This record gives sequence, C-alpha cells and structure tokens, in this order.
Amino acid sequence: MTVYNFSAGPATLPDKVIKEIQNNLLSINESGMSILEISHRSKDFVQILEDAKKDLKDLMQIPDNYKILFFQGGGSGQFAAAPMNLANKHQKIALLDSGYWAKKAEKEAMNLGFKVDQIKSGIDSKYYQLPQINQTYLTGEYDYLHMTVNNTIEGTAYHEIPQLNVPIVGDMSSNFLAQEYNVSDFGMIFAGAQKNVGPAGVTIVIVREDLIDQVKAIPSILNYKLFIEKDSMYNTSPVFPIYACGLVLKWLKNDIGGIKEMEKINRKKATMLYEYLDQSKLFNNYVNKNDRSLTNVTFTTNDDELNQLFVKQAEQKGLKNLKGHRSIGGMRASLYNAMPIEGVKALIKFLQKFENEYTKGEIKSEEY
Ligand SMILES: *Cc1c(COP(=O)(O)O)cnc(C)c1O
Repeated sequence: MTVYNFSAGPATLPDKVIKEIQNNLLSINESGMSILEISHRSKDFVQILEDAKKDLKDLMQIPDNYKILFFQGGGSGQFAAAPMNLANKHQKIALLDSGYWAKKAEKEAMNLGFKVDQIKSGIDSKYYQLPQINQTYLTGEYDYLHMTVNNTIEGTAYHEIPQLNVPIVGDMSSNFLAQEYNVSDFGMIFAGAQKNVGPAGVTIVIVREDLIDQVKAIPSILNYKLFIEKDSMYNTSPVFPIYACGLVLKWLKNDIGGIKEMEKINRKKATMLYEYLDQSKLFNNYVNKNDRSLTNVTFTTNDDELNQLFVKQAEQKGLKNLKGHRSIGGMRASLYNAMPIEGVKALIKFLQKFENEYTKGEIKSEEY
C-alpha cells in the first residue's frame, strides 16, 4: 500500500532524498566514514555547509547583506533569539496575533523582559481571518514586527507582506521554500527545518546583518553575531540535519527547478483540495479565502466523533497523520513540498468515498 504522510512536522521528505541518504549512509564521499560520524570541522562537512548556503542563497535570491545561519533549538529557540539579538534599541516588539505560534512567540519575548504590543489580532474571527495592518497602525517605537507568515495550526498564510518602516521578523517555519517571498521585505526570517526542508534538529535563520549591531550579553548558543563570526560552527553543528537539508535544497533546485516551479505545484495541490472542500456537504474549511495556506489545509465535519472515525479510516488506507492540532481539533492535511500530487488526489478520493457513504447512511452514528 502506498503511504502518504500528511504530518505537520516532522514531515514527509522527497523519496529521492531518503534513498540518497540510504545509499550514502555507510560512506560519505568515499571516505569510508558515515555522515553520522564525521566531524563538523571536517573538509566534507564544511563543503556540505557551504553548498547548502549557496543553494539556499540561489533559491531565495538572498541579497548579500543578509547572512544565513544554522541553529539548534527549533523555531521555539528563535522566539528567544530574535528579541535578544534584534530588540536592542527600544526593547519593544510589535506583534500580529495570528494564532497559536504568534502567541507562543509573544509569551517567550515577554518572559525575557521585552515589551510586546499586539498591534492587531485575528481572535474575533477565531483566527480564520488574518490580522492585516499598514504603517498607520504602528504608532509606538518598535525594534521590529513579529509575523507568523504561515500559521501551521489554523491553516492561514500571509501571501502579501506589508511595507512598513520597521523590520519584519517572519516565522516561516511551515512555508519556507514553499512559495516565493522577497527576502528584502523582511529583517529576519527563520524556519525550523522539520516542516518543509529536512529532518528535525536544525533551524535556518536569514538575517539582515546591520540589524544585529548592538548585542547585550546573551547566551552564545543563540548569538547571531557570534554565529556569523564562526560561520554557524561556534559549537558542534547538527551535522546530519544540515546534510539532509542540503540534499533537499539540491532536489528543489535541480529536480523541481526552483521555488517558482515549486509554488506552482503547491498551488495546484492546495487548490484541488480547497475546491473539493468548498463544494462538500460534509467537510468544511472556514478560512477566509485570501488567507488560505498552501501548506496546511484544515477541515472538519463539525462532529468530533465523525472526525475521529474519518482519521482512523484514512489511516487504514495509508493516508497518515490527518488529525488536526489538539488546540483546534478537526483535521489537517499538510501539503509540504515533498507531498506529491498523487497524495492529494488519493486524499480527495477518500474524502469523496467517506462523504458518499455518510450521505447514503452507511456510516451510522452508533458505529462511531
Ligand atoms: C512548528 C512551528 C514552530 C515551533 O517549532 P519547533 O522547531 O518545534 O520549536 C514555530 N512556529 C511555527 C509557525 C511552527 O509551525
């Protein structure tokens, strides 16, 4: 049975990359040593890191005044690192409350003693609609605006980035490399690899160098300036996750043909699924149409037990990890770069089958 993994993260990776890892696992570059056992200071790894940076720079057309850094500690680590490295003039951050991950970022910055102003919230729409702002909303003095570019749990995404005169820190954990953005619209971008770029264990940061001029004493392990100086090798780098990300970047560049091509495929996948959900009499997606995510599609029957039965039956058909996040329930299909169109077609076919059986009364409430 073909299995499709719709997990929100750690998530599906390209088959080709997994096979490549398997083929080279015993010996990297004919060294007789595995990638799992080589030094982060070795020639082989230094080359892997250089290639990854170069490929990322090409793919995203990253301007020269931005640095690419690799950290451990996940997206959550950056909720602490971003304020500590960037909020140095005013110790004050503006934030768009677009849901779960935005609130996590807000809480972490506040824990560390920074002031955070929610400029606008999507809470009145239950986060089905994204809070939108322009410069007139930013009356205070802020070091930056924190924006969750793709809301993994709620299934929303900013497709347009507002032009403001404060830098934007973009949490792109779940749509990094899934669609085109202008790096120069941001002061900083970060993404945990495990959603769309690789396995868990590394977080990519792209930061405009002039923003990190003034740094107070902060933990070295989260210090952007230090990581720039040490080329992300201040301490032992996560060798294997960076290697695997490097292979995914090569796949995206050479097999897919870049982010523009990837976005076309991702739009096709997401559109197919949203079109089905919009005409369905059983399944619903409530997200404001302009704010719909390409990578995380949420849906529900509005009946918790029926949702559970759906997830269980889908699992048996090889459609894995469709359960929604515990904070909002329902279902979620994550359609990251490595999810093939066939996976989305298989999901739609199963949604149809389930809906037909339900409509005909073949799925009765006492059975679930
Ligand atoms: C998953 C996620 C995070 C947290 O990432 P970790 O690597 O688990 O710390 C942060 N922001 C968004 C948008 C996410 O999807």
